[in-house]
Amino acid sequence: MKLGDEQKRKIESHLESVTKGGFTCPICGSSQWVFNETLSEIRTFSYGKISLQSLIPLVVATCKTCSYVVTFNALQLGLLEQEGTDDDA
Ligand SMILES: [Zn+2]
Repeated sequence: MKLGDEQKRKIESHLESVTKGGFTCPICGSSQWVFNETLSEIRTFSYGKISLQSLIPLVVATCKTCSYVVTFNALQLGLLEQEGTDDDA
């Protein structure tokens, strides 16, 4: 899923509200980040079985200097509607 302008503004607003002195890389100290244009996802380990209910959508940011990667939970950021998920069970 490609991020829209409103979603990008939510990410920027969130980072501004929770970081002190800017969003810096914990490895090299740089504040230069590249955000992926699309969301990624991880899933809970379940011994090779795939459960769509265990997927966590992520915003991915990569440090321009050292390539360290950080992720943010897109649901918790409010980037996605809860409707349409399989979490209702
Ligand atoms: Zn870095």
